[in-house]
Amino acid sequence: MALLVQKFGGSSVGSLERLKAVAERVRKTRHAGDDVVVVVSAMGKTTDELTRLARSISRHPPQRELDMLLASGEQVSIALLSMALQELGVAAVSMTGQQVGIVTEAAHGRARILNIRTERVRTCLAEGAVVVVAGFQGTATSANGNLEITTLGRGGSDTSAVALAAALGAKCCEIYTDVEGVLTTDPRIVPSAQLLEHISCDEMLELASLGAAVLHPRAVEIARNYGLPLVVRSSLSDHPGTCLTSNRRQRVAGAALELGKPVDALELVRHQGLVALSHVPDRPGVAARLSEVLSGAGINVDLIVQSLHEGASNDMAFTLERRDLERAHAVVSALSGRLGGTRPFVVAAYPELAKLSLVGAGITARPGVAASMFATLGQAGISLRMIATSEVKVSCVIEDRAAGQALDLLRERFALTPSQVHLEAIPCEDEDSSPAVRGVALDCGQAQASVHGVPDWPGAAAAVCRALSDDNISLDTIVQSECTRQTPLGAARDLAFTLPRQALEQARQALAPLLQQWPGAELIPGGPIARVSAVGAGMPCTAGTAGRMFRALADAGINIAMIATSEIRISCVVAQEDGEAALRAVHHSFNLAG
Ligand code: ADP
Ligand code: ASP
Ligand code: MG
Repeated sequence: MALLVQKFGGSSVGSLERLKAVAERVRKTRHAGDDVVVVVSAMGKTTDELTRLARSISRHPPQRELDMLLASGEQVSIALLSMALQELGVAAVSMTGQQVGIVTEAAHGRARILNIRTERVRTCLAEGAVVVVAGFQGTATSANGNLEITTLGRGGSDTSAVALAAALGAKCCEIYTDVEGVLTTDPRIVPSAQLLEHISCDEMLELASLGAAVLHPRAVEIARNYGLPLVVRSSLSDHPGTCLTSNRRQRVAGAALELGKPVDALELVRHQGLVALSHVPDRPGVAARLSEVLSGAGINVDLIVQSLHEGASNDMAFTLERRDLERAHAVVSALSGRLGGTRPFVVAAYPELAKLSLVGAGITARPGVAASMFATLGQAGISLRMIATSEVKVSCVIEDRAAGQALDLLRERFALTPSQVHLEAIPCEDEDSSPAVRGVALDCGQAQASVHGVPDWPGAAAAVCRALSDDNISLDTIVQSECTRQTPLGAARDLAFTLPRQALEQARQALAPLLQQWPGAELIPGGPIARVSAVGAGMPCTAGTAGRMFRALADAGINIAMIATSEIRISCVVAQEDGEAALRAVHHSFNLAG
């Protein structure tokens, strides 16, 4: 007899009929002989409705009271589901987060799970009952020692379920929802999206944090870190759904279930070069043309960044193998003046660089990791030539001669053992059949912003990231401009990034003290944007993937405002009104509709 955790989302318990159907499904599992813990969300749109109620009383409801209110939604579902199970003759008992012993940090609205005291659940299971648990909630001890109700953040019931499964040593955690599983993209926008039979946790982590709302990214992170089998399937059919795969297995430590070490490896790739372009015309098709001439010359680029500079033209830069640098410089220069725009673009080539990356899970979600990497390098006087961040990797391109020192500093800073340090790029293997793009996602909840006038000295960009991460603001798609501008402090660059839209005002306040120290520096908020991203584990081993994405957008007449890539993802920022068309174009161009 094994233990299964089954989680049912809001739509799966949206009506009494649906709730009774869930009870019937749980009854079948129970009768097949397995122990079952069920985690449920609030019914239907209850959480949205409660949030609306709160907002109609206060524009900024106090977080403590909001958690108190929102946690009530799940309490309704657990009681009703437990009644429905008992009506079917199945012994069942409902429990709130507190009764289950879900202990979180004291951060209202976004609390992470520290540990789960599983004794009470285990006792109930041993007595033969199905335990019905309220998702999305836990309890924390406040600064003055009182117990407080916390919530984990929207979509957090997935995280409750996976954390419980890890803490109880369940054989599997099944997430039941209103679609057949994880699809190549959101079927609400692209109806031809296809079901994926399996996906790696790293790919799912990227997709979930880039807008694929089907799973809470933190749930994927726990499944990855604890090697827990995770399945996403439909509560409306018997289709087996999507299986998430991870090859790690950690023991669940007694404390800090979600606060484990976020970094589990450090990688160094040497012999890199960088080509930087400035004054590239800002119009559709330019990124596609540049990528195509490079792949036409058999040159494989690695990281690519692009962002708008001074409102009129783009800066673009990409890294590649050192041995291809001169050829890349030549083929790109040949296009200068031939892509339209008011003046030819300028090309510069930088040899002898190295790429240093921290590998882990939930890196963007823990903004302190990247900030601390940048600060460690900055304090040693090491300049960052380029930055690439993602949920599973943060990379910095630096001068090759500083690589050894940088490696030592980061190894020490993140307490990594020699076996966690990799000094070679992992070669592509023929049998590795991961597709270059497994899925695409759209996020319309981000805003674009830039800090103009960041002094061009080591540690300055790090200070911007640190000021934001100290306020728990996650930056993504970070791009440092190639062009410099003159300020009273000397040469300065622009730093463009995306961040959650609701964090824009908070970012302005967090940056104010720092920007005051730099004459001429200011935060410039951008217009409404959408970010479309492609994710696939086979990307590093498939040349031309980025070019294909840029071509798809160009052919749809969509201009790309920003580009940022990481090892297994490419993100393009486009105008908000182009978001859905961009998603469709990219989905189609990678033949994801089958
Ligand atoms: P639940 O209430 O079960 O937690 P959610 O609404 O949180 O359900 O998540 C399911 C929804 O996620 C689907 O209805 C779908 O529209 C959306 N979605 C977005 N991206 C994807 C994707 N790649 N695969 C499947 N569903 C997705
Ligand atoms: N009810 C919460 C929400 O709507 C948690 C969840 O459904 O996962 O965000
Ligand atoms: Mg959900």
